[in-house]
Amino acid sequence: MPQAASELHGVGVGRGAVVGPVLVMSEALSEPLENSHSGDADAEKAAVAAAVNRVVGELRARADRAAGPGKHLIEAAIQMAQDPILADGVGARIEGGASGERAVFEAFRSFQQQLIALGPPMAERATDLADVCQRIVAALRGAPAPGIPVSDAPFILLVRDLAPADTALLDARMVLGLITRDGGPTGHTAILARDKAIPAVVGIGAEAQIAAGTRVVVDAASGTVIVAPSDAQVAAAELRITERATELATRATGGLSEGALADGTSIPLLANLGSPRDAARAVELGAEGVGLFRTELLHLDARTAPTVAQQQSVYTELLSHFPGHKVVVRMFDSGADKPLAFLPHAHEQNPALGVRGVRALRAEPQILADQLQALKNAQDVTDADLWVMAPMVADAVEARFFVDAGKRLGLRMVGVMAEVPSLALLAEQVLAAADFVSIGTNDLTQYALAADRMLGTLSAYQDPWHPAVLRLVKLLGDAGAAAGKPVGICGEAAADPRLAVVLVGLGATSLSMAPPALAEVRAELAGVTLEQARTKAAAALAADSAERARAASAGA
Ligand code: PEP
Ligand code: MG
Repeated sequence: MPQAASELHGVGVGRGAVVGPVLVMSEALSEPLENSHSGDADAEKAAVAAAVNRVVGELRARADRAAGPGKHLIEAAIQMAQDPILADGVGARIEGGASGERAVFEAFRSFQQQLIALGPPMAERATDLADVCQRIVAALRGAPAPGIPVSDAPFILLVRDLAPADTALLDARMVLGLITRDGGPTGHTAILARDKAIPAVVGIGAEAQIAAGTRVVVDAASGTVIVAPSDAQVAAAELRITERATELATRATGGLSEGALADGTSIPLLANLGSPRDAARAVELGAEGVGLFRTELLHLDARTAPTVAQQQSVYTELLSHFPGHKVVVRMFDSGADKPLAFLPHAHEQNPALGVRGVRALRAEPQILADQLQALKNAQDVTDADLWVMAPMVADAVEARFFVDAGKRLGLRMVGVMAEVPSLALLAEQVLAAADFVSIGTNDLTQYALAADRMLGTLSAYQDPWHPAVLRLVKLLGDAGAAAGKPVGICGEAAADPRLAVVLVGLGATSLSMAPPALAEVRAELAGVTLEQARTKAAAALAADSAERARAASAGA
């Protein structure tokens, strides 16, 4: 039955809008219970064989439609599903009394463990094996296969939230828009959406339901999802989409062009990247360099740490896109929303307050040393201006530890991210130790307001316009100016054009963002002088809420 028109509200990511049908991502399946089967082992084996055939059929149909590396991956999954050793393992467990689901789960798990023990590159297949296992168990249960749905036509994806590993599979040509029930405006899903220029509305609430196939309008600018819109609502959205596309086309500069205020004050506009593959597009969209390369994103699926040679090749590829320009690489930020299997941490009740970022690196000196060495090697063979920084640094002692480690190896510019409020409170000491500071407003907001950035229910707190966050930025900006050292911004806040002006007024010397945001920020900066930016910043600082800070700066 068609759904009646209604509106859902969340937090918009970006300013785009999109119209299309919804597909819903199924949740991961629960682990099969240690049940035994009904007593008929042959019937149980036949059910498993039928489930495997169904999965192989679905995968083959996908492989026929796919091309390139995607096709090879699906073909490899088909081979895994049909592996005779696995089939024997499943059969033996059923003979031993296990239910089909449990036998499949255990046989795949044991094979996965063997692959992991072999180390790379075999260990990388363990995740693919887990996906095949989930598909077979889903077929046995008559449940939809978990993961991102497969479709021949573009769609709008509705998810509770994406796991970091799912985000790698998201095909921006097929996923027109994104709606999440959970997740806040600075969570990894929002970051991905911004990076791929996918209009998104996050945190619409756990209860919100939209039936698969229902047409919706996702309007990121207003944070609204119109479910089953009228023809007039669709026409209005389509008009907005066309107008915005025209506006952006006129603002995109192409090439490495310089950001500046109306009075000529230079504010380099840089890109946040997660892979060297995105570098060329960032340059096309006007990035002057890279302000944040998130090194951990390439390894979210990896079971073992990448070698120095593997890392060097990635960093060299990245740097080679920016000869003569600044590229800021962030060391692995493992933990909380971006866990790396090889940068271990014990189970933690509050991972955001746990062993993450530089804390995890200090606990694994070899991984730290290898990454620094790979960066030094890449610095030596390219002409880019490489800057390296550590995440989650709490004070000058930690800053010195990291800066010393980088300098010992011959890295030229070594700095720290400002994400923990203690670092901002000690900004003077930190800037005496580090070559530069880059403010990660996503985490700085999370920690200043004590609001987990993964929780949609707290999205009202995760607002970098909050005067408490702005005051921390000012402490860092003032200390940077006094020390004559750069203080950049690399959190999502820099992608909000009006906030970008305020951040410059607070002392930010460069802004780094998802490349699709560059054109709008460039245009906004070009309309204000440094003095005007400072006036707007002062008005925002004096406000007592994020909402009033927005209004005060707009009126100043
Ligand atoms: C930040 O915290 O603002 C930041 C840029 O780092 P990430 O979003 O990767 O945690
Ligand atoms: Mg961070």
